[in-house]
Amino acid sequence: MALIEAPKNFPTRLYINGEFVDAADGRTFDSINPSNEQVIAKVAMAGRKDLDHAMESARKAMGAWASLAPAKRSSLLWKVGDEIMKRRQEFAALEAMDSGKPYNECFNIDVPMTADHFKYFAGVLRSLQGETIPVNDGLFVYTLREPLGIVAGITPWNFPMMMAARKVAPALAAGNAIILKPANPTPLTAALMAECIHAAGIPAGVFALLNGKGSEVGQMIVEHPEIAAISFTGSTEVGVRMVRDAAPTLKKLTMELGGKSPNVVFADADLETAIKGAQAAIFYNKGEVCTAGSRLFVEAKVHDEVVEKLAARAGKMVGSDPLDDTCRWGPQNNKGQFDTTMKYIESGKKEGARLVAGGERMGDKGYYVKPTVFADVKPEMTIAREEIFGPVLAVQKFEAFEELVEKANSSVYGLAAGVWTKDVSKAHRYAKSIKAGAVWVNCYNWYDSAVPYGGYKQSGYGREMGLQALHALTQTKSVWVQL
Ligand code: NAD
Repeated sequence: MALIEAPKNFPTRLYINGEFVDAADGRTFDSINPSNEQVIAKVAMAGRKDLDHAMESARKAMGAWASLAPAKRSSLLWKVGDEIMKRRQEFAALEAMDSGKPYNECFNIDVPMTADHFKYFAGVLRSLQGETIPVNDGLFVYTLREPLGIVAGITPWNFPMMMAARKVAPALAAGNAIILKPANPTPLTAALMAECIHAAGIPAGVFALLNGKGSEVGQMIVEHPEIAAISFTGSTEVGVRMVRDAAPTLKKLTMELGGKSPNVVFADADLETAIKGAQAAIFYNKGEVCTAGSRLFVEAKVHDEVVEKLAARAGKMVGSDPLDDTCRWGPQNNKGQFDTTMKYIESGKKEGARLVAGGERMGDKGYYVKPTVFADVKPEMTIAREEIFGPVLAVQKFEAFEELVEKANSSVYGLAAGVWTKDVSKAHRYAKSIKAGAVWVNCYNWYDSAVPYGGYKQSGYGREMGLQALHALTQTKSVWVQL
């Protein structure tokens, strides 16, 4: 075990008009390390005056940014990706301290993917183009794809830097100015990203960072008449409210919300791989993943074997300091999420599910929870229906394909799904039958900047990543010319 050195000098202020500034009214909030419950830093908390300031500088900057040659915009965004990779270790350590994710995961997955979002959109922005459309003789019609203007990104705390990049990179690529409002429990890596954006030479005003409360500055953003669009990732509850509050100003919204994703093991699967896959599907990032495979359906013939081996694997997972470079299991992100997870574990016990692994707090310091597996779960139980957003797996048994599809689809959510089988046609039939925005076959939780991502049903609408994200941040103008 080797402890990575905790970063000491990192930004904690707002970033507005190309400068790091304190909040206009001087307010701050504490960012807490969830592994030891200690304050890491006091972070500037934005309010009305800061939003006004960010809007004023965005208004001034957006015209020049939108009309900058695409090649120039592309090279600036590419540089942001380079700046992030130059500071890979610092990003990884800060994210580990602030969010409870293991350092190694941050270093190997989160930081490179964050940088890649900037590089992917740096590349594809040059393919943004209009069309010519044949109509009546004597008329020449063409379309222009134009930016929306000033947009905002509001992000959750589970993948802080990656979520920030998913909002910021396509917005800037499409020629918009963007205001980023990260989640309160994890404000730190967004500020480091602001330093990279600054160092890359993105003009002042085009990007602003407003850390602060969702119910204050978040709500002000939602209601702001000049913000044209919001890309939101968070809970379905807040998403629903946002749709309502954004309606009077007709904002365009991308909603990436909750999930309760079904993961299926058929008896003909390569069982060892499927068991490892099911373990990773629910326990990756301590279960704080919107696509977590939190409902596991196992075919009756192999049910007992899968449950037994999965429980044994879960029981061997031990927590440690996320800054320890051998750490594979960190604490839940924050006290609220820890309490919610414990509450759901109690409900599973009370409602009669069979606890086969975990089911309690891990240790007595920090927000650690033991990886938890419940078997004999009934579809009507709370742990089978509601998103827990923690390391709690609900296992159900099935006999027939049709029964499985019905059960898997009986959720208000439709974010993702997984299936483990060697039968290719069964895998494709399942992929087609399932109502979800992503289906993984013999794998789980793969993402790429180029692949569209988003939900069906109450998991949201709109798509992030890929060309669809870029197009969503533009609008089309038709130009008619009498020849
Ligand atoms: P949350 O909804 O509580 O908060 C998300 C963001 O919204 C935060 O920045 C918060 O400050 C802000 N916010 C809260 N109230 C607001 C308001 N009234 N107006 C404007 N902004 C407001 O979610 P969370 O607890 O940070 O994250 C967990 C949730 O996010 C889970 O439900 C999870 O499934 C979801 N999530 C979804 C995806 C996806 O891609 N679909 C990815 C990650 C997380």
